[in-house]
Amino acid sequence: MAIDGPTAAGKSSVAREVARRLGYAYLDTGAMYRAVALAARRRGVALRDDQTLTRLARGLAIDFTGSPDGGRVLADGEDVTDAIRSPEISEAASRVSTKPGVREAMVARQRVLAAAGGVVMEGRDIGTVVLPDAEVKVFLTASLEARAARRHAELLARGLAVTLDEVRRQVEDRDRRDETRAHSPLRPAPDAVVVDTTDLTLEQAIAAVLEVVRRRTEA
Ligand code: C5P
Repeated sequence: MAIDGPTAAGKSSVAREVARRLGYAYLDTGAMYRAVALAARRRGVALRDDQTLTRLARGLAIDFTGSPDGGRVLADGEDVTDAIRSPEISEAASRVSTKPGVREAMVARQRVLAAAGGVVMEGRDIGTVVLPDAEVKVFLTASLEARAARRHAELLARGLAVTLDEVRRQVEDRDRRDETRAHSPLRPAPDAVVVDTTDLTLEQAIAAVLEVVRRRTEA
């Protein structure tokens, strides 16, 4: 199952819970781009150095451990779950993910991870590129204002001092980069069901996605 959509549309919370209720594995592909971005930052690789970034993406061991709820992300054996969630790494991930070599390395691994089926995979290009034959495709979206407000609340809860205006600008920048990049731009797959969560609670969004699954499975 593929769940795509723009930044802060609620994909992770919804995908994680849908996976749990269906008894599927959950895979957050954004965490993979974030792990590459963190490694690049730490190793002093320039974000415009396509070749070195590609080599890094191919060589970095990225592993997921634990349950969907308490899942951890390991990069070369180090637990980077928290380190990859900073605004700086969000920005860097959005930049490294425009590189075709980086994307190819990640997509190849994502396909291996999904090969056995029974997985809810979340990202930007899952329904269009990674798993074009996914049984269920959902494009989860929400207004810019709603997404910025949610991300702002999340960052405040984590003790980061940011204004709503800053967060709105960052979300807009990442949307623009994801939607306009030449390689695998963010867009709904032709056979994706669009779910707009602007006026939905988390529980309603989960119910809406499970309803898509139910209809597709019956069809
Ligand atoms: O989903 P998340 O915000 O964690 O993803 C971080 C960045 O990785 C996004 O801003 C996007 O640019 C990129 N990404 C991507 N393709 C995916 C998942 C994430 O380009 N499948």
